[in-house]
Amino acid sequence: MTTTGLAAAVLADEPSFSFEFFPPKTEAGARVLWNTIRRVEALAPTFVSVTYGAGGSSRDRTIGLTQRIAAETTLRPVAHLTAVGHSVAELRRIIGQYADCGVRDVLALRGDPPGDPNAPWTAHPQGLTHAHELVSLVKESGAFSVGVAAFPEKHPRSPDWESDVRHFVAKCRAGADYAVTQMFFRVDDYLRLRDRVAEAGCETPIIPEIMPATDVRQIRRFAELSHAVFPEDLAHRLEAARNDPAEAHRVGVDHATGMAERLLSEGAPGLHYITLNRSAAALEIHQNIQGTRSRHVLSAVG
Ligand code: FAD
Repeated sequence: MTTTGLAAAVLADEPSFSFEFFPPKTEAGARVLWNTIRRVEALAPTFVSVTYGAGGSSRDRTIGLTQRIAAETTLRPVAHLTAVGHSVAELRRIIGQYADCGVRDVLALRGDPPGDPNAPWTAHPQGLTHAHELVSLVKESGAFSVGVAAFPEKHPRSPDWESDVRHFVAKCRAGADYAVTQMFFRVDDYLRLRDRVAEAGCETPIIPEIMPATDVRQIRRFAELSHAVFPEDLAHRLEAARNDPAEAHRVGVDHATGMAERLLSEGAPGLHYITLNRSAAALEIHQNIQGTRSRHVLSAVG
């Protein structure tokens, strides 16, 4: 089977690198984002992705931003899509809108209940229950590359590792070309997940997500929402720099650079940077790891 599109780019010898944006709510937010998009564009990343607001809240803004990136930049946009609150007919319409404007890359997610993400999950009466069904739906709808979510610390709702890995592998078997992880702060968690998935006979590339931790309060909130363990030593260093934003920035960038270097030297297929629509930290980390990226390529070809 020949691999095409984004799947081929992710499987190439050179590690992929990509950036995640969210659809801004205000004009001022849009200006900040587009400034970031132009800086990122100059680096020619493998792809950029656009999140789908919790509970489907940003549906039109996600579609609009993804279409604009496709039309007005040289970037390859990946549209996040969740099954929350949508019937299959609505999901088909959204997928069709992407196809119409030449967007052929979707990150297929189940999503969480609107309002309280920890509330019991209820599917739309004419909708989908799990992400593997959305993977199949997108794949049936045309020549799309499809990504899925992976969880280095196990999905918070999974009762055990065995079922977590089994359901992850089911998403891959349904046609996912690659996966992107939830944010995490300990490289060993990523490596263990990768080993577990490989032991289950699944070779789908899993791209680690890199979250620059430069603001301790913000990052604790994100970590709580995503159930990621936030290492105490990193928290202490950030707390100590609470009144010194430049030092906090340095601490966060150094930690993320160390993680990124180790992930690449352990063979991670790429890095997906969370930007929060601002480029400084992600671009600095990317700059810092250029040496590691070229060593990775040399060892892959040599
Ligand atoms: P699933 O793969 O369906 O898994 C959810 C749970 O159900 C897991 O515990 C799984 O083991 C279990 N499960 C799966 N299949 C079965 C089955 N057949 N039977 C029983 N149990 C099963 N959310 C947003 O709202 N918008 C975004 O843009 C967004 N982007 C994300 C990007 C990334 C990289 C990641 C990692 C997550 C993102 N999320 C986003 C969050 C995601 O929607 C939630 O984490 C959600 O709870 C799980 O989605 P999933 O696609 O992994 O679901």
